[in-house]
Amino acid sequence: MTRRHVIIGAGHAGAAAAQELAKAAKSGALEAEIILVDADAGLPYERPSLSKEWLTADTFPESAPHDWAAGGIAFHGGRAAERIEAGSREVVLEGGDRLGYDRLLLCPGGMPRQLAVPGGEACHVLRTAADSRLLHAALRKGGHLAVIGAGVIGLETASSARKLGLEVTVIEAGERVMARSLPPEISALLQSRHEAAGVKFLFGAGITGVTTRADGRQVVALKDGSVLAADLLVAGIGFDADTALAAAAGLEIDRGIVVDGDGRTSVPGIYAAGDATVFPGPSGARQSWQTWQHARRHGAHVARRMAGLPSDYAPVHWFWTDQQGINLQVLGDPLGAGDSVLRGDPEGAQTRLYLEEGRIIGAVMIDQGRDTRPVTALIESGAVLEKGLLQDPSVQLRSLNARKAVHA
Ligand SMILES: Cc1cc2nc3c(=O)[nH]c(=O)nc-3n(C[C@H](O)[C@H](O)[C@H](O)COP(=O)(O)OP(=O)(O)OC[C@H]3O[C@@H](n4cnc5c(N)ncnc54)[C@H](O)[C@@H]3O)c2cc1C
Repeated sequence: MTRRHVIIGAGHAGAAAAQELAKAAKSGALEAEIILVDADAGLPYERPSLSKEWLTADTFPESAPHDWAAGGIAFHGGRAAERIEAGSREVVLEGGDRLGYDRLLLCPGGMPRQLAVPGGEACHVLRTAADSRLLHAALRKGGHLAVIGAGVIGLETASSARKLGLEVTVIEAGERVMARSLPPEISALLQSRHEAAGVKFLFGAGITGVTTRADGRQVVALKDGSVLAADLLVAGIGFDADTALAAAAGLEIDRGIVVDGDGRTSVPGIYAAGDATVFPGPSGARQSWQTWQHARRHGAHVARRMAGLPSDYAPVHWFWTDQQGINLQVLGDPLGAGDSVLRGDPEGAQTRLYLEEGRIIGAVMIDQGRDTRPVTALIESGAVLEKGLLQDPSVQLRSLNARKAVHA
């Protein structure tokens, strides 16, 4: 019997889910009608490009049209889902059309946090191609950019703006860059790269308000009484999962849509995947990850489980960022470790392994992407490793995987 699978959100999780279902249908493993709905008509595009190469491109890129139908997917672009009626298994779209479903997958991602001070709405945010297009145009006017927040989005924007020749100041409430995901030594290195490229930082700086002057310049008022005048403001101060639709339908919410290991929500027939979810992480505790790889893999995994197909998902957390000409990749939990080993140049290309009781639990690679695979395998293996071997530059990390556990 053909079952209708409706997916709301065609971002990285939703698109991967739709493709996985289409693959299963093509192979004969599933009889399914696959419907993908997104409020954004311009998808698909790679969201990570929005703060990187799309901002610095001479002409703002147009996303290439995609032939969803050829892949067996019915795409409803530019249609927001307004309501879920779980009792009758229907989704109500903007304009009133109803879509019945046998299984529903929610992949709505989330929204960038707005600066919650008077005048804060003057800040650009970055989530969609439309946001990036607006910022692309604004950056071309040059001048002084103030970035609020020294996280990934803020720092990538700072990097792109320096490439375009703008003066850049980053205002950060904390004491170092990317403090939630990087150990202090990597924050320091990254900050020094930004400073070498001309970015200025204000740390420990709270904002009390933003005013727009008659000449169009914006003035940011800081808690210490000082002010900063800028031509353009960007806020990269965090993300909130989009839980509105799910909450209104009675699904359990805990900062995100709560799902089990198969992506099941608390309401039968409804699943969720990607940035919007809170799922059982590697330790079993509820976890929420906002990364490209997780969104894609989680989407594909949940799609398979939703279709009753076998699938396991035991991920090692991974993300990358590109800033000031360096590629930084982060694996696992480098902040939770008691010990570390440096392989490479302390000021440049390097892999830092973070250890707990002889086991690698996290790593940071700077311009050393080739180490990502072997280090992921070492984290997954849980092997206790001899520190001397890890420190020895002549020992290839992949050879340690081949030897399996090397006991201290
Ligand atoms: C600027 C930027 C740079 C990034 N850079 C990196 C990076 O370098 N490395 C990395 O690992 N990750 C990066 N990420 C994070 C990564 O892009 C996200 O983790 C990923 O996009 C999450 O996928 P998702 O499908 O869960 O959500 P999204 O990709 O956000 O997709 C959600 C979709 O749901 C749609 N939607 C929401 N509500 C409705 C509704 N009611 N009806 C219909 N449609 C709806 C939205 O329009 C959206 O298209 C970046 C993100 C941004 C914004």
